[in-house]
Amino acid sequence: MNIENAIKQGYLKLKQNNIKSALLDSQLLMSKTIKKDKKFIILNSTKELKHSDYEFFKKLISYRAKSKPIAYLTGIKSFWNDDFFLNDKVLIPRPDSELLVEQVLKIYKNKAKINFLEIGIGSGCLILSILKEKKFFSGTGIDISNHSLKISKINAKKLNIVNRVKLFKSDIDNFNIGKYDLIISNPPYIKKLDIKNLAKDILNFEPKIALDGGLEGLSGFRKIIRKSSELIKNRGILVLEIACYQKRDVVRILRDNGFYVNRTVKDLANNDRCIVSTKI
Ligand code: GLN
Repeated sequence: MNIENAIKQGYLKLKQNNIKSALLDSQLLMSKTIKKDKKFIILNSTKELKHSDYEFFKKLISYRAKSKPIAYLTGIKSFWNDDFFLNDKVLIPRPDSELLVEQVLKIYKNKAKINFLEIGIGSGCLILSILKEKKFFSGTGIDISNHSLKISKINAKKLNIVNRVKLFKSDIDNFNIGKYDLIISNPPYIKKLDIKNLAKDILNFEPKIALDGGLEGLSGFRKIIRKSSELIKNRGILVLEIACYQKRDVVRILRDNGFYVNRTVKDLANNDRCIVSTKI
């Protein structure tokens, strides 16, 4: 079996199983199998595959056919300006969340040095992308998941920013270290009863702990906003990712806790996705 024919076979199997990006996914899984980039695959399409590689490739294709996300199969997802390691114990970084990085960079365009906190770091994609952009920022990240801490540490090493980031396994209720210029969070915010309606890729494979926001999807926000009002400096900034229908509720919780709402920002799909507020 050569590379090209294996990719075709993979493509057909994925297509039969209603995987939308069947060809690209088949190519990506071939890349993963033979540890070469897409260019190599195209230029060497008639190269014969080793038997063990072919078997491994078929296994990856069969997982993908059952909707396992590509990022969990390749172990990598690109976010902002880097590739992040991950496994199925952490949420896959979403392009929507890049909005938070963008907002933070805009807010601190003329400020070289701040100390910030991220609540719920997952793979570390947000805190580490910001730290990589701003060489004199220092960041603290917390998460309740041991897996998240492990993966984030690997990513911090890969991006070469271990010395500017502190990572702790902690729930926000039990975290009392520091006063911050900025706090960011993309908490679990899906309503408990909506979880079963998520796409199969998400529902069957991504960690519920990173998605489940309680009955109204707001329990994470309540905890985070309440505690942030203690951990943030006066005039400090809080940047949150929200679901598109949560703007009103989250704005109310922010105001109740002494935050002034600067703006809500929409994502590329024109949905409210991010709220920027200031502690007053
Ligand atoms: N954006 C994710 C999704 O739609 C949810 C992430 C979260 O709960 N913070 O699946």
